[in-house]
Amino acid sequence: MITPAQITIPTEPIGSIPRPHDLIEQIAKGDSEDPSLDPLYENAIRDTIERFEATGSPIVTDGEQRKYHNFATYSVHGLPNTAPDGFKIPFSDGHTRRLSRLTRGPFRYRRYADSYLDVAMRYAHVPVKQAVISPSALSLMYPAEKIPDYSRQQFIDDLLREHETEMRRCLKKGAHKVQIDFTEGRLAVKIDPSGHLLNSFIDLNNLALSRFSLEERRRIGVHTCPGNDFDSTHSADVDYAELLPSLFELKAGNFYIALAGERDRRHALRIIGKYRKPDQRVFVGVTAPVDPHIETPEEVRDRVLEASEYIPIEHLGTTDDCGFSPFSDDTSTSRDTAFAKIQVRVLGTRLAEKLIGGH
Ligand SMILES: [Zn+2]
Repeated sequence: MITPAQITIPTEPIGSIPRPHDLIEQIAKGDSEDPSLDPLYENAIRDTIERFEATGSPIVTDGEQRKYHNFATYSVHGLPNTAPDGFKIPFSDGHTRRLSRLTRGPFRYRRYADSYLDVAMRYAHVPVKQAVISPSALSLMYPAEKIPDYSRQQFIDDLLREHETEMRRCLKKGAHKVQIDFTEGRLAVKIDPSGHLLNSFIDLNNLALSRFSLEERRRIGVHTCPGNDFDSTHSADVDYAELLPSLFELKAGNFYIALAGERDRRHALRIIGKYRKPDQRVFVGVTAPVDPHIETPEEVRDRVLEASEYIPIEHLGTTDDCGFSPFSDDTSTSRDTAFAKIQVRVLGTRLAEKLIGGH
């Protein structure tokens, strides 16, 4: 039996940490894969993990230091059968980011995220988590006008197989969790308010998740957020009520949900409380990377207590609302600020644990 004193509330990061300025400058000068940059990447990863562990974070990441140029296209960056003029993501401050477009088949990843784990686990003394991009985000690479001799269905088959391969490689290497980044979930409702696009994303991602056992799905999570780039969002104006009921249809064991930056947290929590399946754990966002203000441990504690009114404590966890720089050249948040916020997340979660667990 679990006694109150044994209660621990797991706390995990999302993934990215701002890259060091010298690395960003060197990448801007030319080829992000130039072998002469290897020592800079290596230093960035080592320093990120050291500073991560210094915050007391029980789970760390490599800060996605090597995910050029972003969280979404790292696996396909540099493929010869892509063009840069793919799907456009508009942000609230007016700037846009673009995915790449597939120009011909077959579709293959160029790298799998477990290659990042190999390096991170060499430096880490605590468990390492790995984020991967969702099949639904990469599905946007297939053009509306279709590719001759390579049907959309062939593409989806290849995409699902590549995603499954990446997931299995990360699980096998011992990732504490493998988190599927699904920032396009909320964006899908903005693009298509009818909900059809969101439903198609949920169906596609479930085709992938269905390939894993229940046991494996306990180590698989899904991250949702309104986007974060240059302290700006892409879909914060979409009501969570349009997204969350569908989100919990995903066959994953863990959900990492941006909440700290929400205008009405209780509104979202009520929906989470209603639609979360009994075996799904919800990591609520308690720090907001888009907000320069560094939260206090007490603020974080109070957010955990608030969430515990809607989510049973044994199914609750905490996280940051998003990565701190999902796009590798985003310098709007400093490394110092990112680690300060992470430390506060850890401290505030422990404060809540003490109050709830009585230890
Ligand atoms: Zn995010």
